[in-house]
Amino acid sequence: MATDPTRTSALIAQAERYGAHNYEPLPVVIYSGEGAWVVDVEGRRYLDCLAAYSALNFGHRHPALVAAAHHQLDRLTLTSRAFHNDRLGEFMEGLARLTHKDMVLPMNTGAEAVESGIKVARAWGYRTKRVATDRARIIVAAGNFHGRTTTIVGFSNDPSARDGFGPFTPGFDVVPFGDAEALAAAITPDTVAVLIEPIQGEAGVIIPPDGYLAEVRRLTADNDVLFIADEVQSGLGRTGATFECDNCGVVPDLYLLGKALGGGIVPVSAVVGDAGVLGVLQPGEHGSTFGGNPLAAAVGSAVVDLLETGEFQARARDLGEVLARRLESLVGHGVQAVRVRGLWAGIDIDPALGSGHLVCQQLADHGVLAKETHGSTIRLAPPLVITAAEIDWAVDQLEEVLAGLG
Ligand code: PMP
Repeated sequence: MATDPTRTSALIAQAERYGAHNYEPLPVVIYSGEGAWVVDVEGRRYLDCLAAYSALNFGHRHPALVAAAHHQLDRLTLTSRAFHNDRLGEFMEGLARLTHKDMVLPMNTGAEAVESGIKVARAWGYRTKRVATDRARIIVAAGNFHGRTTTIVGFSNDPSARDGFGPFTPGFDVVPFGDAEALAAAITPDTVAVLIEPIQGEAGVIIPPDGYLAEVRRLTADNDVLFIADEVQSGLGRTGATFECDNCGVVPDLYLLGKALGGGIVPVSAVVGDAGVLGVLQPGEHGSTFGGNPLAAAVGSAVVDLLETGEFQARARDLGEVLARRLESLVGHGVQAVRVRGLWAGIDIDPALGSGHLVCQQLADHGVLAKETHGSTIRLAPPLVITAAEIDWAVDQLEEVLAGLG
């Protein structure tokens, strides 16, 4: 491909002129991708260490996923749920098998899975737990990120997510993340659910203390409260298991899934649970024009097939050790702390060296794509197809960037 820097700036200017300014992307214009690598419009290669916030767990254009999509594109793409299609049942059966649950509610985006989980929990609260009308409450954790709808940002404590978007939906109680005693104290007879990320991704890959999820499970079970695990980012192989809940030996009542469920090809999300909970929904009470469409179902089924081999979970587990070892050696050398679970890392850069955004800009100049979360924390979440040598190379680049800033 011919090198033409004016092409990059023209494309960025076009996007900035015509797009709402709700993002601040790095000045890289990606043209193509394969596996863990992408190529920009000038032919420069980058190792993708963000993987679209874990939506590309299987890498760019995984052959099995692309083949499933192509095959389906040539036959049928959309029916709406007014009719059955021949792919949806198979997808939902596969996902129920993968999660060891009974039932699947297919949606599209992560935020929709969260909204759907909230509706299911409230309906379960009124119809099964018998909470008085409109009294249902849901406990969430400070530092959460569950999406961008008005209800969801209403229980965020990140000012940039919520300021200017009220009034907000009532019925949520916020407790500190990782503090089981605070959670226990917040439960009332009107509490219908606890909604948490097993690891808080957007907050900076925050891993709660050992035993916290087990305690959440015990408290919710003892108090007839649903445990809803938002595994939109942590699930589907990222942490070295199918779900982070597996790593902690707990089974939630509802899994909220998204991102990688669409194989990096189409948006696919789902709420998964047992019939005693998800079965509360009746025809006409909830839905989505695109949810469960045959293209999404075909790709989602292929994703389930990949996860059922266990190969990706094992890669995340084994390569996560390589990543952790390398990153831990940076602590005290421009890095204040690292948190790693599987192929997922939060790296707190010494703020004296510069912002996370600056580090990510310089990393891109070195051929590594990553994204800051808050302030000086950067997150690495490479596709699970990355190799040990590529991880080494990426950390070498980070080391060089930090040395240059120091
Ligand atoms: N839940 C979690 C844990 C997430 O990380 C995200 C996205 N970062 C969402 C929900 C929302 O997903 P989406 O952007 O697909 O709406």
